[in-house]
Amino acid sequence: ATPTAIMVGSGLGAKRGVLFKNALALEGAARIDTVVMDKTGTLTKGEPEVTDVVTADGYSADEVLRLVAAVERESEHPLAAAIVRHAETRSAGLTAGRFENVPGHGAIAEVGGHRVVVGNRRLFDREHIDLGSLAAHRDRLTDSGHTAVLAAIDGTAAAVIALADALRDTSAAAVAELHDLGVEVVMLTGDNRATAERIAADLGIDTVIAEVLPGDKAAKVAELQHDGRKVAMVGDGVNDAPALAGADLGIAIGAGTDVAIETADLVLMRSDPLDVPTALRIGRGTLRKMH
Ligand code: ADP
Ligand code: MG
Repeated sequence: ATPTAIMVGSGLGAKRGVLFKNALALEGAARIDTVVMDKTGTLTKGEPEVTDVVTADGYSADEVLRLVAAVERESEHPLAAAIVRHAETRSAGLTAGRFENVPGHGAIAEVGGHRVVVGNRRLFDREHIDLGSLAAHRDRLTDSGHTAVLAAIDGTAAAVIALADALRDTSAAAVAELHDLGVEVVMLTGDNRATAERIAADLGIDTVIAEVLPGDKAAKVAELQHDGRKVAMVGDGVNDAPALAGADLGIAIGAGTDVAIETADLVLMRSDPLDVPTALRIGRGTLRKMH
């Protein structure tokens, strides 16, 4: 690698806020044939908002939200924060005891003498809770791209809380540009399959790896590498860090967590997905000048 080519490449990147941490990152960018993108906070803005609360017979939305918000106030998950915001002051004065965070699943706690379970289908399966008549609502909401959070009170399904997280404005364009570069795009997410597939279809992404537990993202990247692919991972979260480290090129969203930014080989300061194809193009240009 000639120092001049590397300087030019880094300079081009820096102008767009694409910060390559070293020469190896530039060379790595040139060879990428597969880009794995985290969904929440990378392809989407990562600011979920509650859009619907559907309750089972015998429960009021107010009552369920009051208990659920008390649990979610103890959680650091972005979905939890959105639910607490939506519930506003409903749960004021209520405290959650015996709080248990279940990574990739949800949370469980005792509130006002009730055992409250909040999370996804996997958590309901684990707790042997039947969704009953709420299943059809859950399916309708996830098929339309919403994230569905399920709530149970004392072992009975009480509500489906639907959340929507807006796509970043340039996510679809970024996918199209990556395809033009001959790069395959894969979505990787902990969210459920129906939600992920709907959003992937809207963005033109054809490969979806969904319902991945936080600790398993790196293993999914490694599987793609075992297929002989040169993989870039784009992510923002704490749970993306091992995958960013294991990928051939780790790309962090600038608005992401410190751990992701520290672990990545390059950082997109503008948090713009379109800067992913830009980075690959700069890498390719740099490599051409090296020979
Ligand atoms: P991601 O944020 O990429 O979807 P996570 O592993 O953080 O991945 O979460 C996976 C899923 O677990 C979420 O989509 C949600 O269904 C569920 N979940 C995790 N924590 C919570 C929580 N505190 N409240 C509700 N659902 C949760
Ligand atoms: Mg994320």
